[in-house]
Amino acid sequence: MNLFYLHTVCYNVTMKTSKAYRFRFYPTAEQAQLLSRTFGCVRYVYNWALKAKTDAYYNEGKRLYYKDLSAKLTILKQQPGTVWLNEVSSVALQQELRHLERDKARVKVAKIHAKIADRRQDFLHKLTTRLIRENQVISLESLQVKNRIQNHHLAKSIADVGWGELVRQLEYKATWYERTVVKIDKFYPSSKRCYDCGHIVSKMPLHIRKWTCPECGETHDRDINAAQNILAAGLAVLACGEDVRPGR
Ligand SMILES: [Zn+2]
Repeated sequence: MNLFYLHTVCYNVTMKTSKAYRFRFYPTAEQAQLLSRTFGCVRYVYNWALKAKTDAYYNEGKRLYYKDLSAKLTILKQQPGTVWLNEVSSVALQQELRHLERDKARVKVAKIHAKIADRRQDFLHKLTTRLIRENQVISLESLQVKNRIQNHHLAKSIADVGWGELVRQLEYKATWYERTVVKIDKFYPSSKRCYDCGHIVSKMPLHIRKWTCPECGETHDRDINAAQNILAAGLAVLACGEDVRPGR
C-alpha cells in the first residue's frame, strides 16, 4: 500500500477545493431555466458516470478514469435518447466527471484513515485489557511525558492513539476488574530521581537513555528507573495518601 501517494492525492484534493469561488448572482428567468437544465444534466451525468465506473469494475474488472469517461460522454451525447445533454455547457458536464474522480480519491483516503484508526484503537484495547488483567495496581503519570515511552516499541502506537485515551481505558476497565489506577502528579520528577537513593538530578535531557547517579553510582535505564519511581509513588499514595509532589 502506498500511503505517501494517497496522502498526496488527499493534499491535491484540498488544494483544488480551496480554490473554489463563492458568489451570488441574480439570473433572469431565461438564465434560471438554463441553470436548472444544466443542474439536471450535471446530475444525470454524475449518476451515469458512477454507474459506468461501477459496471466496468464489477463486470470487467476495469477501472475507468477521467479520459475514459470523457470519451464515453462524447458518445452518450450523440445517442438519440440523450441528445438533450448538448443543450447545456459541455464544460459543466466535463467538470462533473472530474468531480466524480475526486470524490473517489477522497473516499479512498478516508477509508484508509478509518482503517488505521481502527487498528490503533484495537491495539490499545488489547494492551489496556492485558495491563488490567495482569496487575492489581497500575500507577501512571496523569499527563504524558513524551520521553517516557520514546525508546519503547509501543511508543509510536501509544503516541498516535493518545495518552489520554490509554488512561481513559485503563480507568474504566479497572472498575470492571476491581483494579486500582493511581495517577501521579505530573510534576513528580520521575525521570530525574534516582530510584535507589532518592537523589534528584537537576537535568535529564530527552536523549539520555542511560545515566549514572552522581550520589550512589547506580546506573539506570531511563524508562525503567522512571517507572519504578512512578510505581513507588503510586503505592505510597495508596498506603497513606502521601502527597507525592516534592518541594522543588
Ligand atoms: Zn542514587
